[in-house]
Amino acid sequence: MGVPISQMWTVASYVLGKKFRGIKRYPLVLMLEPLFRCNLACAGCGKIQYPAEILRRQLTPEQCFRAVDECGAPMVSIPGGEPLLHPQIGEIVAGLVARKKYVYLCTNAILLEKHIDQFQPSKFLSFSIHLDGPKEEHDFAVCREGVYDVAISAIKTAVAKGFRVTTNTTVYNNADPESMREMFDNMMGLGVEGMMISPGYQYEKAPSQELFLQRSQTTKLFKRIMGNAKRGWRFNLSPLFVEFLKGNWDLECTPWGMPAYNLFGWQRPCYLLNEGYCETFQELLDTTDWSQYGRASGNPKCADCMVHCGYEATAVADTFNSLKGFSQVVKLTLFGAGREKLPPDQPSPPHDNNAGSKDADDERVRKIQLPVLSS
Ligand code: SF4
Ligand code: SF4
Repeated sequence: MGVPISQMWTVASYVLGKKFRGIKRYPLVLMLEPLFRCNLACAGCGKIQYPAEILRRQLTPEQCFRAVDECGAPMVSIPGGEPLLHPQIGEIVAGLVARKKYVYLCTNAILLEKHIDQFQPSKFLSFSIHLDGPKEEHDFAVCREGVYDVAISAIKTAVAKGFRVTTNTTVYNNADPESMREMFDNMMGLGVEGMMISPGYQYEKAPSQELFLQRSQTTKLFKRIMGNAKRGWRFNLSPLFVEFLKGNWDLECTPWGMPAYNLFGWQRPCYLLNEGYCETFQELLDTTDWSQYGRASGNPKCADCMVHCGYEATAVADTFNSLKGFSQVVKLTLFGAGREKLPPDQPSPPHDNNAGSKDADDERVRKIQLPVLSS
């Protein structure tokens, strides 16, 4: 089963409503981060680097509801940190579902089976399980052995209990396209509703900078990962965003489409960059110089960025804003992308000086031997 018709209808009518009222900047998905702490320490993570006193703090349910009500986006994604570490996460999710928001609760799934009875299956709630590849690749990406098996067990439990389950995958420059495609097969076999996939962003705070992709690497790699997609694969992504990742469609970033709210307020300008905070969403909209962001701006921080939170909202808006976009989506939905010519194997990325060396192998072994899962 794919995304419910009611969700598609809600999103389509919301976007068309904004278009007909001439509103240019509006939020589609609120990225609500109730806390930054996590029970993992992934190499590419830019969220767990805050000092301990910040990691101990969390938003209250009332702060979450105020942000959601003010923003008005029809969908709310709850990343983190690990949201299941929040002692009131059940209350927060229930409050959002009561507001008829389509909620994606992003989790590494370590605690999902333990806490699953805090939640009720609903068309408004999806668990979005962090999976960065098949077993070996995922455990390597999250720097802990055994996490993949825990995530798979949690997916099976959640599907069996009637929950909507999706996956979210961040792709780094060491991704193996064949392994990723194997993972897509496996996820569909488990009954996952759809898969979200996005290139990693070069967080200044992330410890492993060599993992991140440059733009030309991204399109080549995504062509090989998602090109000639099997008919049975379902992506939790708009068709134009998939074509953008493969280098077949041009989009510009609309960072206001997926605004981020966290302990410090409304993050300027987007979920990835941190250039100050606003007290209200309206203040964020009104006082941010949006011309300074996105690829066309020439801002070097945006030059290689093709991430979901910058471009998915653009892809959805483009679907309804032009006949060209709409007809392309209809074509892709009915007939797929057709037979695609895939690029040859990627050469080693220029800044991955250690690729294939003994040092790189030692580093890989070192990471995967970090402590195994604790309860
Ligand atoms: S699971 Fe997510 S929040 Fe936790 S360390 Fe990994 S990337 Fe960061
Ligand atoms: S291009 Fe990326 S980094 Fe720049 S504003 Fe958009 S989402 Fe943020």
